[in-house]
Amino acid sequence: MIIDLRSDTVTKPTQGMLEAMMSAKVGDDVYKEDPTVNKLEERLADMFGKSKALFFPTGTMANQTALKLHTNPGDQVICDSNAHIYHYEGGGASFNSGISCKLLEGTRGMFTAAQVIEAINPPDFYHSPLTALVEVENTANRGGGSCWDFEELKKIRTVCNDHELGYHLDGARIWNALVAKPETARDYGQIFDTISVCLSKGLGCPVGSVLIGDEGIMQNALRIRKILGGGMRQVGYMAAAGLYALDHHMERLPEDHRKAKEIGQLLSGLEFINKVEPVETNIIIFELVDKKNDTKFLKLLSDKNIRLSSMGSGKLRIVTHLDYTDDMHDLFLNELQALKLK
Ligand SMILES: *Cc1c(COP(=O)(O)O)cnc(C)c1O
Repeated sequence: MIIDLRSDTVTKPTQGMLEAMMSAKVGDDVYKEDPTVNKLEERLADMFGKSKALFFPTGTMANQTALKLHTNPGDQVICDSNAHIYHYEGGGASFNSGISCKLLEGTRGMFTAAQVIEAINPPDFYHSPLTALVEVENTANRGGGSCWDFEELKKIRTVCNDHELGYHLDGARIWNALVAKPETARDYGQIFDTISVCLSKGLGCPVGSVLIGDEGIMQNALRIRKILGGGMRQVGYMAAAGLYALDHHMERLPEDHRKAKEIGQLLSGLEFINKVEPVETNIIIFELVDKKNDTKFLKLLSDKNIRLSSMGSGKLRIVTHLDYTDDMHDLFLNELQALKLK
């Protein structure tokens, strides 16, 4: 048995999901004739209270499309220094949209409206890049699955209104925030112009992300997706997995959060652990007392068929998910407890 806690993307489709996929009605989605894709898009648009949604192969492509929709070459997007769009999208912001990122030093991947105001370049000062967009990530991945305070997100909305900036939410793990916090999908839909969501993280689908927004801003999304190579044909097989996941895998997310909290608690009590970031959802980020021991720590665990990931600068990451069973959880907690790191 391998206990893979590197990411919530390592899950395999469940039997029920596979059956839903196998019996999906499909068509050519490039002609917008795939009934299952259309159904998923309508469902998600409605869920977030927007008029349009578009299915994408990856969250990266959905985010990249959003950046393109909101900006012109030379513009600047304000985001956290830990943002996925900055760290993990291959430099796509500059490659695809010709824009730069203004990085804010937030707390656990989250910044404030005051920081945004300070980062906006005055539009008439033509020496600096034109600020066009604010991007936030909820939950924040490199922030340790942290959830934004909704009041702060609303304040940032006001700043965006005042300065005519677009407002994009990278909601790859918005599902985790939705179960951990009182706000609804519609609340998010009300304040953001565009929202990307991933079906392939906590929801356990093999493939799929969706970009959501109103008609106006989404007008060019289809064209940009085509340019990026994301127009797919009978992709309803994948959309069917998404519909199945919304029906069956949302409600089990608190289980991932509970397991993550238990792991976090146990780690905090171990003598070779220096610091565990607050655990709010399904991600645990922690540091060893002696960072030089990272490789050894990961090796000791991998000898026991347990996999975690390193995030660099001495930070280690654990992510709980659908395929991390109760048995694996018990075993992992026991192995951690017994671990001798000298
Ligand atoms: C996973 C992830 C994405 C999208 O990643 P893909 O692997 O391209 O689907 C975007 N943002 C965040 C925060 C993520 O964790």
